[in-house]
Amino acid sequence: AKLPVAILVPGDFNDHAIGRIDKAFKLVRIERADPGLVTDEMRATVRGIASYAGISAAMIDALPKLEIIASFGVGYDSVDANHAAKRGVMVTNTPDVLTEEVADTAIGLLINTVRELYAAEKWLRDGDWVEKGNYRLSRLTLRGRSVGIFGMGRIGRAIARRIEAFGLPIAYHNRRQVEGLAYEYHATLKGLAEAVDTLICVAPGGASTEKAINAEVLAALGSNGVFVNIGRGSTVDEAALAVALESGTIAAAGLDVFADEPNVPQALLDAPSTSLLPHVGSASEHTRRAMADLCVDNLVAWFAERRPLTPVPETINVKARG
Ligand code: NDP
Repeated sequence: AKLPVAILVPGDFNDHAIGRIDKAFKLVRIERADPGLVTDEMRATVRGIASYAGISAAMIDALPKLEIIASFGVGYDSVDANHAAKRGVMVTNTPDVLTEEVADTAIGLLINTVRELYAAEKWLRDGDWVEKGNYRLSRLTLRGRSVGIFGMGRIGRAIARRIEAFGLPIAYHNRRQVEGLAYEYHATLKGLAEAVDTLICVAPGGASTEKAINAEVLAALGSNGVFVNIGRGSTVDEAALAVALESGTIAAAGLDVFADEPNVPQALLDAPSTSLLPHVGSASEHTRRAMADLCVDNLVAWFAERRPLTPVPETINVKARG
Protein backbone atom coordinates (compact mmCIF):
# COMPACT_ATOMS: atom_id res chain seq x y z
CA ALA A 1 0.00 0.00 0.00
CA LYS A 2 1.16 3.53 -0.77
CA LEU A 3 1.92 5.62 2.33
CA PRO A 4 0.78 9.27 2.14
CA VAL A 5 4.31 10.51 2.69
CA ALA A 6 6.42 12.68 0.37
CA ILE A 7 10.01 11.51 -0.17
CA LEU A 8 12.43 13.92 -1.83
CA VAL A 9 15.14 12.52 -4.12
CA PRO A 10 17.77 15.11 -5.10
CA GLY A 11 19.69 14.61 -8.34
CA ASP A 12 20.70 11.32 -9.91
CA PHE A 13 19.57 8.17 -8.05
CA ASN A 14 19.46 4.38 -8.33
CA ASP A 15 16.66 3.20 -10.69
CA HIS A 16 15.54 0.30 -8.51
CA ALA A 17 15.30 2.60 -5.45
CA ILE A 18 13.35 5.19 -7.47
CA GLY A 19 10.89 2.50 -8.59
CA ARG A 20 10.32 1.27 -5.04
CA ILE A 21 9.96 4.80 -3.57
CA ASP A 22 7.47 5.70 -6.32
CA LYS A 23 5.41 2.61 -5.45
CA ALA A 24 5.47 3.01 -1.67
CA PHE A 25 5.43 6.83 -1.25
CA LYS A 26 4.82 10.08 -3.06
CA LEU A 27 8.06 10.58 -5.02
CA VAL A 28 9.27 14.18 -5.31
CA ARG A 29 12.35 14.93 -7.42
CA ILE A 30 14.61 17.94 -7.39
CA GLU A 31 17.65 18.71 -9.54
CA ARG A 32 20.13 18.75 -6.68
CA ALA A 33 20.24 19.00 -2.87
CA ASP A 34 20.14 22.79 -2.89
CA PRO A 35 17.93 24.66 -0.36
CA GLY A 36 17.42 27.34 -3.03
CA LEU A 37 15.42 24.83 -5.11
CA VAL A 38 13.05 23.83 -2.28
CA THR A 39 9.47 24.96 -3.10
CA ASP A 40 6.74 25.93 -0.61
CA GLU A 41 4.99 22.63 -1.35
CA MET A 42 8.18 20.69 -0.51
CA ARG A 43 8.54 22.71 2.70
CA ALA A 44 4.98 21.76 3.65
CA THR A 45 5.07 18.06 2.72
CA VAL A 46 8.52 16.44 2.50
CA ARG A 47 9.11 14.06 5.43
CA GLY A 48 11.95 11.96 4.02
CA ILE A 49 14.99 12.24 1.74
CA ALA A 50 16.66 9.41 -0.18
CA SER A 51 19.99 10.47 -1.62
CA TYR A 52 23.45 9.71 -3.02
CA ALA A 53 24.21 13.37 -2.62
CA GLY A 54 25.42 15.22 0.44
CA ILE A 55 22.77 16.85 2.64
CA SER A 56 23.91 20.06 4.34
CA ALA A 57 22.61 21.69 7.52
CA ALA A 58 20.96 24.36 5.32
CA MET A 59 19.12 21.68 3.31
CA ILE A 60 17.90 20.05 6.56
CA ASP A 61 16.72 23.44 7.84
CA ALA A 62 14.91 24.16 4.55
CA LEU A 63 12.56 21.20 5.17
CA PRO A 64 10.72 21.71 8.50
CA LYS A 65 8.71 18.46 8.21
CA LEU A 66 11.81 16.34 7.53
CA GLU A 67 12.06 13.20 9.73
CA ILE A 68 14.60 10.95 8.01
CA ILE A 69 17.50 11.05 5.55
CA ALA A 70 18.12 7.63 3.99
CA SER A 71 21.64 7.96 2.63
CA PHE A 72 22.71 5.53 -0.13
CA GLY A 73 26.09 4.01 0.79
CA VAL A 74 27.86 3.23 4.05
CA GLY A 75 30.01 6.40 4.14
CA TYR A 76 27.81 9.37 5.08
CA ASP A 77 30.49 12.03 5.60
CA SER A 78 28.65 14.31 3.14
CA VAL A 79 25.47 14.28 5.29
CA ASP A 80 25.54 16.65 8.27
CA ALA A 81 24.49 13.93 10.73
CA ASN A 82 25.33 16.02 13.81
CA HIS A 83 23.00 18.78 12.64
CA ALA A 84 20.34 16.20 11.78
CA ALA A 85 20.59 14.81 15.34
CA LYS A 86 20.17 18.31 16.78
CA ARG A 87 17.07 18.82 14.64
CA GLY A 88 15.64 15.39 15.59
CA VAL A 89 16.13 14.03 12.07
CA MET A 90 17.08 10.34 11.68
CA VAL A 91 19.95 9.45 9.31
CA THR A 92 20.38 5.92 7.94
CA ASN A 93 23.11 4.40 5.73
CA THR A 94 23.60 1.03 3.99
CA PRO A 95 26.27 -0.95 5.89
CA ASP A 96 27.12 -4.68 5.58
CA VAL A 97 25.39 -5.36 2.23
CA LEU A 98 28.41 -3.87 0.39
CA THR A 99 31.20 -5.08 2.67
CA GLU A 100 32.39 -8.14 0.71
CA GLU A 101 32.09 -6.38 -2.68
CA VAL A 102 34.23 -3.44 -1.54
CA ALA A 103 36.80 -5.83 -0.02
CA ASP A 104 36.97 -7.69 -3.36
CA THR A 105 37.56 -4.40 -5.17
CA ALA A 106 40.29 -3.42 -2.69
CA ILE A 107 42.15 -6.68 -3.34
CA GLY A 108 41.76 -6.26 -7.11
CA LEU A 109 43.14 -2.74 -6.89
CA LEU A 110 46.04 -3.87 -4.69
CA ILE A 111 47.15 -6.62 -7.09
CA ASN A 112 46.54 -4.40 -10.12
CA THR A 113 48.80 -1.76 -8.59
CA VAL A 114 51.59 -4.03 -7.37
CA ARG A 115 51.80 -6.21 -10.50
CA GLU A 116 51.13 -3.33 -12.98
CA LEU A 117 48.26 -5.26 -14.59
CA TYR A 118 46.75 -2.01 -15.94
CA ALA A 119 49.97 -1.28 -17.83
CA ALA A 120 50.43 -4.91 -18.94
CA GLU A 121 46.94 -4.94 -20.47
CA LYS A 122 47.65 -1.65 -22.24
CA TRP A 123 50.84 -3.27 -23.59
CA LEU A 124 48.76 -6.06 -25.16
CA ARG A 125 46.03 -3.77 -26.51
CA ASP A 126 48.52 -1.30 -27.99
CA GLY A 127 50.13 -4.12 -30.00
CA ASP A 128 53.40 -3.87 -28.07
CA TRP A 129 53.41 -7.60 -27.26
CA VAL A 130 53.62 -8.40 -30.97
CA GLU A 131 55.97 -5.54 -31.87
CA LYS A 132 58.25 -5.30 -28.84
CA GLY A 133 57.90 -8.64 -27.05
CA ASN A 134 57.04 -9.48 -23.46
CA TYR A 135 55.86 -6.88 -20.99
CA ARG A 136 58.62 -5.97 -18.51
CA LEU A 137 58.88 -7.80 -15.18
CA SER A 138 56.99 -5.92 -12.47
CA ARG A 139 59.30 -4.11 -10.08
CA LEU A 140 57.00 -4.92 -7.18
CA THR A 141 55.43 -8.06 -5.78
CA LEU A 142 52.92 -8.94 -3.08
CA ARG A 143 55.31 -11.64 -1.88
CA GLY A 144 57.04 -10.75 1.38
CA ARG A 145 54.84 -7.72 2.04
CA SER A 146 53.30 -6.71 5.34
CA VAL A 147 49.94 -5.02 5.19
CA GLY A 148 48.57 -2.21 7.34
CA ILE A 149 44.87 -1.40 7.38
CA PHE A 150 43.79 2.13 8.32
CA GLY A 151 40.15 1.65 9.41
CA MET A 152 39.70 -1.89 10.72
CA GLY A 153 35.89 -1.84 10.64
CA ARG A 154 33.44 -3.99 8.67
CA ILE A 155 35.23 -3.59 5.32
CA GLY A 156 38.71 -3.49 6.90
CA ARG A 157 38.10 -6.88 8.47
CA ALA A 158 36.79 -8.32 5.19
CA ILE A 159 39.98 -7.11 3.48
CA ALA A 160 42.11 -8.58 6.30
CA ARG A 161 40.45 -12.01 5.91
CA ARG A 162 41.44 -11.98 2.23
CA ILE A 163 45.01 -10.84 3.00
CA GLU A 164 45.32 -13.65 5.56
CA ALA A 165 44.67 -16.14 2.76
CA PHE A 166 47.62 -14.58 0.87
CA GLY A 167 49.89 -15.47 3.80
CA LEU A 168 50.85 -11.88 4.63
CA PRO A 169 51.07 -10.37 8.14
CA ILE A 170 48.44 -7.74 9.05
CA ALA A 171 48.49 -4.72 11.35
CA TYR A 172 45.97 -1.88 11.75
CA HIS A 173 45.19 1.56 13.12
CA ASN A 174 41.83 2.72 14.51
CA ARG A 175 41.20 5.25 17.26
CA ARG A 176 40.40 2.28 19.49
CA GLN A 177 41.88 -1.22 19.52
CA VAL A 178 39.31 -3.83 18.45
CA GLU A 179 38.73 -6.30 21.28
CA GLY A 180 39.47 -9.92 20.44
CA LEU A 181 41.19 -9.15 17.13
CA ALA A 182 44.57 -10.86 16.79
CA TYR A 183 46.13 -8.39 14.31
CA GLU A 184 48.84 -6.05 15.59
CA TYR A 185 47.38 -2.70 16.72
CA HIS A 186 49.10 0.68 16.30
CA ALA A 187 47.83 3.67 18.28
CA THR A 188 49.01 6.09 15.56
CA LEU A 189 48.75 6.06 11.76
CA LYS A 190 52.42 7.02 11.48
CA GLY A 191 53.35 4.08 13.72
CA LEU A 192 51.39 1.76 11.46
CA ALA A 193 53.04 3.21 8.34
CA GLU A 194 56.49 2.65 9.88
CA ALA A 195 55.66 -0.97 10.68
CA VAL A 196 54.36 -2.02 7.23
CA ASP A 197 55.19 -1.52 3.53
CA THR A 198 51.63 -1.74 2.21
CA LEU A 199 48.95 0.60 3.55
CA ILE A 200 45.25 0.16 2.73
CA CYS A 201 42.99 3.05 3.71
CA VAL A 202 39.35 2.16 4.36
CA ALA A 203 38.65 4.69 7.09
CA PRO A 204 35.62 6.99 6.79
CA GLY A 205 35.94 10.54 5.45
CA GLY A 206 35.11 13.65 7.46
CA ALA A 207 36.97 15.99 9.79
CA SER A 208 38.64 13.32 11.95
CA THR A 209 40.52 11.76 8.99
CA GLU A 210 41.00 14.88 6.80
CA LYS A 211 44.41 14.61 5.02
CA ALA A 212 45.55 12.00 7.58
CA ILE A 213 47.65 10.37 4.84
CA ASN A 214 50.20 13.19 4.56
CA ALA A 215 53.86 13.57 3.55
CA GLU A 216 55.06 12.32 6.94
CA VAL A 217 52.95 9.12 6.80
CA LEU A 218 54.04 8.46 3.20
CA ALA A 219 57.71 8.91 4.15
CA ALA A 220 57.17 6.44 7.01
CA LEU A 221 55.71 3.91 4.56
CA GLY A 222 58.99 4.08 2.66
CA SER A 223 60.46 3.56 -0.79
CA ASN A 224 59.04 0.04 -1.22
CA GLY A 225 55.69 1.37 -0.03
CA VAL A 226 52.37 0.74 -1.72
CA PHE A 227 49.34 2.85 -0.80
CA VAL A 228 45.79 1.76 -1.66
CA ASN A 229 42.78 3.99 -0.97
CA ILE A 230 39.29 2.48 -1.05
CA GLY A 231 37.94 4.75 1.73
CA ARG A 232 37.58 8.46 0.95
CA GLY A 233 39.74 10.88 -1.05
CA SER A 234 39.49 13.55 1.65
CA THR A 235 41.65 11.32 3.88
CA VAL A 236 44.67 11.91 1.62
CA ASP A 237 46.81 14.97 1.00
CA GLU A 238 46.70 14.36 -2.77
CA ALA A 239 49.41 16.91 -3.60
CA ALA A 240 51.77 15.20 -1.11
CA LEU A 241 50.88 11.78 -2.56
CA ALA A 242 51.69 12.91 -6.13
CA VAL A 243 55.06 14.27 -4.93
CA ALA A 244 55.78 11.04 -3.01
CA LEU A 245 55.13 8.95 -6.15
CA GLU A 246 57.14 11.27 -8.40
CA SER A 247 60.14 11.38 -6.06
CA GLY A 248 60.16 7.67 -5.16
CA THR A 249 59.30 8.33 -1.51
CA ILE A 250 56.79 5.49 -2.04
CA ALA A 251 56.74 2.95 -4.88
CA ALA A 252 53.12 2.83 -6.09
CA ALA A 253 49.51 3.77 -5.37
CA GLY A 254 46.07 2.39 -6.21
CA LEU A 255 43.20 4.84 -5.74
CA ASP A 256 39.43 4.30 -6.05
CA VAL A 257 38.47 7.59 -4.38
CA PHE A 258 39.46 11.24 -4.74
CA ALA A 259 38.94 14.45 -2.78
CA ASP A 260 36.94 16.26 -5.48
CA GLU A 261 35.19 13.56 -7.52
CA PRO A 262 34.83 13.22 -10.45
CA ASN A 263 37.82 15.54 -10.82
CA VAL A 264 41.20 13.82 -10.46
CA PRO A 265 44.19 16.13 -9.93
CA GLN A 266 46.47 16.27 -12.99
CA ALA A 267 49.45 15.55 -10.71
CA LEU A 268 47.94 12.15 -9.85
CA LEU A 269 47.05 11.39 -13.49
CA ASP A 270 50.70 12.15 -14.36
CA ALA A 271 52.25 10.31 -11.39
CA PRO A 272 54.15 7.06 -12.14
CA SER A 273 53.17 3.57 -10.88
CA THR A 274 49.57 4.49 -10.22
CA SER A 275 46.32 2.61 -10.83
CA LEU A 276 43.24 4.85 -10.75
CA LEU A 277 39.59 3.78 -10.63
CA PRO A 278 36.42 5.93 -10.82
CA HIS A 279 34.97 5.08 -7.35
CA VAL A 280 33.75 1.58 -8.25
CA GLY A 281 34.23 -0.06 -4.82
CA SER A 282 30.62 -1.25 -4.48
CA ALA A 283 29.60 -0.68 -8.09
CA SER A 284 28.16 -4.00 -9.27
CA GLU A 285 24.49 -4.37 -10.24
CA HIS A 286 24.12 -7.03 -7.53
CA THR A 287 25.48 -4.94 -4.66
CA ARG A 288 23.94 -1.63 -5.75
CA ARG A 289 20.53 -3.35 -5.81
CA ALA A 290 21.06 -4.64 -2.26
CA MET A 291 22.08 -1.11 -1.17
CA ALA A 292 19.00 0.35 -2.89
CA ASP A 293 16.76 -2.14 -1.08
CA LEU A 294 18.29 -1.34 2.31
CA CYS A 295 18.03 2.40 1.65
CA VAL A 296 14.30 2.12 0.84
CA ASP A 297 13.65 -0.50 3.56
CA ASN A 298 14.86 2.11 6.08
CA LEU A 299 12.22 4.58 4.84
CA VAL A 300 9.50 1.92 4.90
CA ALA A 301 10.45 0.74 8.41
CA TRP A 302 10.51 4.34 9.66
CA PHE A 303 7.13 5.40 8.28
CA ALA A 304 5.34 2.06 8.80
CA GLU A 305 6.84 0.96 12.13
CA ARG A 306 8.57 4.12 13.44
CA ARG A 307 11.98 2.47 13.65
CA PRO A 308 14.90 2.52 11.20
CA LEU A 309 16.91 -0.60 10.30
CA THR A 310 20.40 0.90 10.09
CA PRO A 311 20.61 4.28 11.86
CA VAL A 312 24.03 5.99 11.96
CA PRO A 313 25.56 6.38 15.46
CA GLU A 314 24.99 10.16 15.56
CA THR A 315 21.19 9.77 15.32
CA ILE A 316 20.73 6.49 17.20
CA ASN A 317 18.64 8.25 19.90
CA VAL A 318 16.38 10.21 17.52
CA LYS A 319 12.78 9.20 18.17
CA ALA A 320 9.88 9.18 15.74
CA ARG A 321 7.56 12.18 16.20
CA GLY A 322 3.90 11.79 17.05
P1 NDP B 1 33.06 1.00 9.78
O1 NDP B 1 32.42 2.10 10.53
O2 NDP B 1 32.67 -0.42 10.05
O3 NDP B 1 34.65 1.08 9.95
C1 NDP B 1 35.36 2.29 10.00
C2 NDP B 1 36.63 2.04 10.81
O4 NDP B 1 37.45 3.21 10.75
C3 NDP B 1 36.36 1.77 12.28
O5 NDP B 1 37.09 0.63 12.66
C4 NDP B 1 36.85 3.01 13.01
O6 NDP B 1 37.40 2.66 14.28
C5 NDP B 1 37.91 3.54 12.05
N1 NDP B 1 38.02 5.01 12.15
C6 NDP B 1 37.01 5.91 12.04
N2 NDP B 1 37.48 7.16 12.21
C7 NDP B 1 38.80 7.03 12.45
C8 NDP B 1 39.83 7.98 12.72
N3 NDP B 1 39.59 9.29 12.79
N4 NDP B 1 41.08 7.51 12.91
C9 NDP B 1 41.34 6.19 12.85
N5 NDP B 1 40.41 5.25 12.59
C10 NDP B 1 39.15 5.67 12.40
O7 NDP B 1 32.83 1.35 8.25
P2 NDP B 1 32.90 0.38 6.96
O8 NDP B 1 34.05 -0.54 7.11
O9 NDP B 1 31.57 -0.18 6.68
O10 NDP B 1 33.23 1.49 5.82
C11 NDP B 1 34.41 2.25 5.91
C12 NDP B 1 34.45 3.36 4.87
O11 NDP B 1 34.72 2.83 3.59
C13 NDP B 1 33.16 4.15 4.68
O12 NDP B 1 33.00 5.15 5.67
C14 NDP B 1 33.33 4.74 3.29
O13 NDP B 1 33.92 6.03 3.37
C15 NDP B 1 34.32 3.79 2.61
N6 NDP B 1 33.67 3.08 1.49
C16 NDP B 1 34.12 3.26 0.21
C17 NDP B 1 33.53 2.61 -0.86
C18 NDP B 1 34.03 2.77 -2.25
O14 NDP B 1 33.25 2.63 -3.18
N7 NDP B 1 35.31 3.04 -2.47
C19 NDP B 1 32.37 1.74 -0.66
C20 NDP B 1 31.98 1.59 0.73
C21 NDP B 1 32.62 2.25 1.75
P3 NDP B 1 37.41 3.72 15.50
O15 NDP B 1 36.01 4.26 15.61
O16 NDP B 1 37.88 2.92 16.69
O17 NDP B 1 38.40 4.78 15.14
